[in-house]
Amino acid sequence: MTTVSHLECSKTGERYAAGKLHNLSSTGFPLLARYDLEKARQSWNREWIPSGPSSMWRYAPVLPVSKPSSIVSLGEGMTPLLRLRRLGETLGAANLYLKDDGVNPTGSFKARGLSCAISMAKELGVTKVAIPSAGNAASALAAYAAAAGMEAHIYMPSDVPQANYIECKSFGAQVTLVDGLISDCARIVAAKAPGEGWFDVSTLKEPYRIEGKKTMGYEIAEQFRWELPEAILYPTGGGVGIIGMWKAFEEMEALGWITSRRPKMIAVQAEGCMPVVRAFEKGEERAEFFENASTIASGLRVPKPLGDFLILRAVRESGGVALAVPDEESMRAGVDLAAREGVFAAPEGAACVAAMPKLLGSGVLKKEDRVVIYNTGAGLKYLEAYSTRFPRNAGGESDKLGGLITPR
Ligand SMILES: *Cc1c(COP(=O)(O)O)cnc(C)c1O
Repeated sequence: MTTVSHLECSKTGERYAAGKLHNLSSTGFPLLARYDLEKARQSWNREWIPSGPSSMWRYAPVLPVSKPSSIVSLGEGMTPLLRLRRLGETLGAANLYLKDDGVNPTGSFKARGLSCAISMAKELGVTKVAIPSAGNAASALAAYAAAAGMEAHIYMPSDVPQANYIECKSFGAQVTLVDGLISDCARIVAAKAPGEGWFDVSTLKEPYRIEGKKTMGYEIAEQFRWELPEAILYPTGGGVGIIGMWKAFEEMEALGWITSRRPKMIAVQAEGCMPVVRAFEKGEERAEFFENASTIASGLRVPKPLGDFLILRAVRESGGVALAVPDEESMRAGVDLAAREGVFAAPEGAACVAAMPKLLGSGVLKKEDRVVIYNTGAGLKYLEAYSTRFPRNAGGESDKLGGLITPR
């Protein structure tokens, strides 16, 4: 099973014991799990991976869970890597791929992080968990908590997509809608959790969600037969995906599975909430709070990511960039992707499609590069957003088709 050795403060390197409940480090920074990769290198072979589970748990030696019976799995991970030939042709990208995490349990990649976090919480005896969420993390937490028999307490902005609210309620979670942003929800959870005996599983405030998310990096390597692509476009909210994939690449290099060559890590944000892009452009190490954050891509509405310095480091060290696109272009790109490739992506994933022309135009990406667009969620979870593109007017097209859709 696991080769975890200890946890480490991502800022100061201070060490903490594995196998215990932790939130942030004593200095207030995210903790990262570390493994005995030398031991893993000697006792584990990448050729064995395909015969493991058909989920992210095939990478169990570099995940923190120590007892197989602690694992709470709904089949997350090992999502398809699709070649986008038709869209690639129109964009002028000869080797374009999409990693489709929209097919995960609860329709987003948040399932990876919460499968891992809830498994560890179960192993460490937690019975009540709480989360502030812009939507999909709440749905995933509610599902895994239900499967683990834990109590889930959820705080979401009141304008969260309908799907997230209905899912959370169906999974039996305690849901509170908050008039505000995810940052306001986070303040409430932080204030209430100690008194209520809730374990706070906020993004990067506990060390194991990122461990689940790093499997995105392992899978991309495995699916490209251990030759990483030239670039990965990632829709960046809290940035955990980028931080996690970057960590996975470091680990795989230590395992002797890949070389030191890295893909350009490209952080895509929405123009209505682009704190990482601003910091990247100014050459800053930390992002500033983005006032009046607003975007239809709810997963990107994070005005001040806790791991901003880790995101910016990965983007810069990889030779990548951070850039933003307007919602209008993301929605159009989402429909274009669906119509050309048969994949109905979340607006977050669609934002990466919308970023492609800029990246090709500026020379950050070359025509022949193998480029992976990371689609983090399913379009079906965003019907309110997509319905603005397809209004159903009485007496309109659907009526002419027989009146089956529009009630009279
Ligand atoms: C949470 C979320 C994101 C942002 O994820 P991070 O890794 O924290 O940046 C992007 N897309 C979707 C669909 C999400 O749910």
